[in-house]
Parts: sequence; structure tokens; C-alpha cells
Amino acid sequence: MTQPDRLNAELAAVMHELAAAGLTRRRRVLESPCGRLAAVDGKKVLNFASNDYLGLAGNREIAQAMADGALLWGAGSGASHLVSGHLTPHETLEQEIAAFSGFPRALTFSTGYLANLAVTPTLAGRGAAVFADKLNHASLIDAMQLAKANGADVQRYPHNDMAALEKMLAASSAATKVIVTDAVFSMDGDLAPLPLLFALAERYDAWLVIDDAHGFGVLGAQGKGCLAHFNLPAAPRILLMGTLGKAAGVGGAFVAGSATAIEYLLQKGRSYIFTTAAPPAIACALRKSLEIIRNGDALRTSLFARIAQLRDGLAGLPWQLLPSPTAIQPLIVGDNEAALKLANALWERGLWVPAIRPPTVPKGTARLRISVSAAHSEADIAALLGALKELA
Ligand SMILES: *Cc1c(COP(=O)(O)O)cnc(C)c1O
Repeated sequence: MTQPDRLNAELAAVMHELAAAGLTRRRRVLESPCGRLAAVDGKKVLNFASNDYLGLAGNREIAQAMADGALLWGAGSGASHLVSGHLTPHETLEQEIAAFSGFPRALTFSTGYLANLAVTPTLAGRGAAVFADKLNHASLIDAMQLAKANGADVQRYPHNDMAALEKMLAASSAATKVIVTDAVFSMDGDLAPLPLLFALAERYDAWLVIDDAHGFGVLGAQGKGCLAHFNLPAAPRILLMGTLGKAAGVGGAFVAGSATAIEYLLQKGRSYIFTTAAPPAIACALRKSLEIIRNGDALRTSLFARIAQLRDGLAGLPWQLLPSPTAIQPLIVGDNEAALKLANALWERGLWVPAIRPPTVPKGTARLRISVSAAHSEADIAALLGALKELA
């Protein structure tokens, strides 16, 4: 065997193991824009798989703003923000996001993954300590690993366990402490106890880094997100990350915080500095999306009506429904194969609900992850409930 063949054979062997464990992942090709219906292999299915909570991914006004933006500002930004890629639409969007979030300043990123990589490792280097919830999103875990590589001490506390976190904080002599949490946990849909986390951050003089990927646009008055939901202030020790490819329906992310902290990220955040700025048309689309979110109480009212309808209907079924007040509604099946089978049976009935298995979730908690959207009708939710009752 030649050397390159050996290299590829190693990879193939690992993937063979994945396949044997039933953990091979496959992509489905959508032949339609993201919306309540997805066309796949010529078949139309009701889509409960996207994070498009307000139904804005296919919104015509936003798409028009993107098209107009591209004609005005071109297809690409041409460089990173600090070199020459920071255009007027980027600057305006940042200011609008800052004003909307209530923080003095905001910085935009091409993805939430990059935004998370910029925050924790930049705040926490040698002599710092990071305290992270065990169920944090993979991008926050990778950020934590980078902080560790920078010399920070890194500890994970059991999910939402404030007593455990307080013990760790009390025992730490680190000069800089950083608490990191999802606001809405992406596989469980539950909320972090942000008022308690904020109180601990105050008591132990720590930064509080909050990832509001699933709260922004959905929670709180005007969809301002988790802080508005809990009536928490835009305090200078908080850094709020929000993604713009979920409820906002476009793509990208922001980090909002004090003017000093944001300037620090701009100066030092490697995943901000060493990457090309998103196309300016994305910023144009996001400005329109932000306007729709701000005026979108009717969308959120429909979304929460659909969530309530789904939860009421699922109550009598044999699977455990987690106590989620958000658009993420996980139904615990337990066994990996059983979860897959249930998802496949729904798919056959024209209902697309992803099965989530370990290692994405803890062993023995394979689940259906139902994502509800304002785009769903009452009849859509009823169709899902009907099928689940039949399959129970
Ligand atoms: C989706 C997600 C991200 C990553 O955001 P992208 O814009 O998709 O890169 C970060 N954190 C959480 C909690 C998420 O769900």
C-alpha cells in the first residue's frame, strides 16, 4: 500500500467504527428555502429541525434587503474588519445592535462559533479561572480549551448547579474569574438561572459570559433576549453573545458589553482579527431582520402559542418532555436506536424531527429535538401530535 492510501485507510477505519455504532451522520439536501416546509428528494416534509424560530430565514423583505445591499455594497468585504473590511453597513449594524441590547457597544462576527472563540480565551489567560456549565454548547467548550491553552485554569460545574459553582468560586484565588453559560441550553431548551449567576458574578467579582443563541429574538420584550426576560441590567461585567442565524434568520453573531470590554475584544480577539469580515449585504439583511424582531411581538405570540399547544398535546405520551419554556422542545426517548426509529417513522409521515444522540447528549438520553417556529400553523403542530400519538 502506498503511504497516502495508509493515511486514508486510517480515517476509513475510524468511520467504520462510527458506522458500526450507528453514529454516522448524514446531510439531507434541501431543494427549497428554509421554511415550515422542506422539500427533500422531491418529497415535502414539515420542518421541525431548523432554528428559524421566527420564520425569518425565508422572509422576503430580509432577502430583498440582502439583494439591495449586495448591489449597493458589492458581494464581499475584501478584508478583515481591522484592515479594510469594515464597511458602513457593518458599522451601522453594530450601533443598532448595541442600542437594541442596551449595552454601550457591540461587535459583529461571521458566526457564533467565532464570537465564542473570541470572548472567553481573550478574557481568560494565565492567572485566570474559567467556570463553565457542563451542558454548554460545543463552541463554548472549544473556547474553554483555548483559554486553557492560554494558561487559564478551567473548571466545569454540574448543569445549573449554583451551589457547586459557588464552592468553586470561593475556592479560587484567580485574579480574573470568568463564568460562562448558555442562556438557553441548546439540547434541553431550559434556561440558566441568570439572576443567580449574576449575583454570584457580583459577589466574586467575576465576568459573566452569556451565550444567548436561542434566546435572542425569542425571549423578552421586543425579543431582546435572556437579560430582558429576567429583567437583568446590561451590566459592565456581562458579555452577551447572540447569534444571528437562528431567530434572526440570516447568519453571524454579536458580542455586546461595556465599551472597554468590546474595544479589548477588537484589539485582542484572534477570531475577530484574523478573519475576513462578513459580506456587507449580510449586515444589510440583518438590519432589516433586527427591525422585524423589534416589532415582532405578534410573531413571538404565535410562537409561544404553538409551544404551549405542543406541550399540552405531548403531556400524555410515554416519552419524557423536558421542562423547557423555549422553542426547543426535547422529547427524551432514551435508547439511541429507538430515537432513530421514531425520527424515521415521523419522516415517513412527512414530519422532520431530528433525533439527537450521544455524544451530543449524555448516554441514555437520546431524544427527539423538536424546534417550534412562528412559521408553524396550529394544524402543523396538530399533525406532529397526531403522528406521535399514533406511534406511542
Ligand atoms: C448555534 C450555536 C452557536 C454557534 O452559532 P453559529 O452562528 O451557528 O456559529 C453558539 N452557541 C450556541 C448555544 C448555539 O446554539
